[in-house]
Amino acid sequence: MAAAEARIIRLLMELRRNGVTDTPTLAAIERTPRELFVAPPFLDQAYENTALPIACGQTVSQPLVVGVMTQALEVTDRMKVLEIGTGSGYQAAVLAQLCRRLYTVERHKPLLKQAEERFKHLRIHNITAKVGDGSRGWPEQAPFERIMVTAAAHDIPPKLVDQLKVGGIMVLPLGDAHALEQDLLKITKTENGLHIDHLGPVRFVPLVEGMPED
Ligand code: SAH
Repeated sequence: MAAAEARIIRLLMELRRNGVTDTPTLAAIERTPRELFVAPPFLDQAYENTALPIACGQTVSQPLVVGVMTQALEVTDRMKVLEIGTGSGYQAAVLAQLCRRLYTVERHKPLLKQAEERFKHLRIHNITAKVGDGSRGWPEQAPFERIMVTAAAHDIPPKLVDQLKVGGIMVLPLGDAHALEQDLLKITKTENGLHIDHLGPVRFVPLVEGMPED
């Protein structure tokens, strides 16, 4: 067995032991070559269960967190999904295998360009990506059945709640990004308001409003 394959299997077993048991989620992670999403100096750690630095001072999430968030989103292949914070594009590539169409927004243009090249290389054709401030969502494409925010928000962004369908689920890390940890929330939008489940502590870079200079 190739070394990379053995490492992926070890990683999947680690995810399973830590509560990621949803078969489609694990299969999507298995099919997504994380080595294409990490910076060259970290290639040998691509299948370690750790977050890794990418360009523009950002990070590609820890595989366990990708697994937990993907599983919590309960995506099916009929759904239109919005991701905020494309970053490397790894989480987007995992989600795109599970949904009908994925919309993803990133505020750093160089990251978005690189992510789009990776989607093309992997022949993933159901992702629409744009540069922008994701805290505003993507009003032209709303409503969404699912929303995943992959940067830490201080408050639940009201525009994202507006753009979520009733019955829809949003997963987001809430809290101060300068604190050691944030709280991963699974929010279900009901007729009577928001139902919130706490999925545990996570660590993310901040959701920053407005656009950078690049
Ligand atoms: N999902 C990514 C994780 C990226 S880290 C992956 O799989 O690699 C979080 C990303 O959110 C960073 O790239 C950061 O630039 C981006 N981000 C932060 N605030 C944002 C905002 N308001 N709008 C869009 N993207 C944002």
